Amino acid sequence: MKPYNDAMETIQNSVLKLKEEKNAIILAHNYTLPEIQDIADFVGDSLGLSRKASETDADLIVFCGVSFMGETAKVLNPDKKVLLPIPEAGCAMASMCTGEQVRALRKKYPDAAFLAYVNTTADVKAEVDMCCTSSNVIDAVKSLKETDIVFVPDTNLAEYAASLVPEKNIIKFHGYCPAHHGITVWQMEDLKTMHPGADVISHPESPMDVLNMSDFIGSTEKMIGYVRESANNEFIVGTEIGMYHRLKKLRPDAEFYFPPSAICQTMKMTDLRTLYKSLSEETGEIILDRDIMDRARRPIEKMLTIG
Ligand code: SF4
Repeated sequence: MKPYNDAMETIQNSVLKLKEEKNAIILAHNYTLPEIQDIADFVGDSLGLSRKASETDADLIVFCGVSFMGETAKVLNPDKKVLLPIPEAGCAMASMCTGEQVRALRKKYPDAAFLAYVNTTADVKAEVDMCCTSSNVIDAVKSLKETDIVFVPDTNLAEYAASLVPEKNIIKFHGYCPAHHGITVWQMEDLKTMHPGADVISHPESPMDVLNMSDFIGSTEKMIGYVRESANNEFIVGTEIGMYHRLKKLRPDAEFYFPPSAICQTMKMTDLRTLYKSLSEETGEIILDRDIMDRARRPIEKMLTIG
């Protein structure tokens, strides 16, 4: 293992040196590889990452995650260079909904408010009234004055929000995250049988029957808060496996068990070599149409003021 670790450390040091020279900031999602998380300036969920992107005075933003995250950073920093080391690293859920579909829904529901999960393309964001993340979805739904709310694209998150805000009529779309939608009750029950003392904590992109058997439901950042405060030292974690690294760093005394299907391939595509290459050659620049950026900014900025 040592030569491999040595090689990793060498590349990590090269990335950090280059980052200083270029006055760059590295933002990484909680689901990225451990060796990426360890050298990022900030590791977090979509809301925290968007906030960091909106506040940074770095000249160059390197986003380790998937394309909608890089796009969000670009919309918030239209005059800065934003790099996504692997340009083809998309989000399966985001690709399930297009701006054209939202425009068609606008015609079908002319009096409804339109709320988009941040896991959408800039093209979709440009068509909606507000964006939200899994951290602030409930506050976002409550903040809209309309009773009818079309929520895109995540059907599970929409159902979760509808269960907590029954006074609103949430009109669901058919999108889902394969990594979370594939988590099943029987997977979680098997884990619970093996670890009966463990708390079950789940991400709201998971199916409702999984959420119903959970002790805690929240975004990745809220899960971290729950584990930090908990006196328990065993957790069944219903989200993407990348979270193991942050949770274990936070609570080395605790054990974390993940369902077998919860893996997002595109979140793992950015490794140290591709990060170094992108930073040194400035490859993977996010380019967006100015008009799309201008229209997408308002719903994103609203999202940043909520919760
Ligand atoms: S984990 Fe799911 S929602 Fe997140 S980037 Fe991967 S496919 Fe998209």
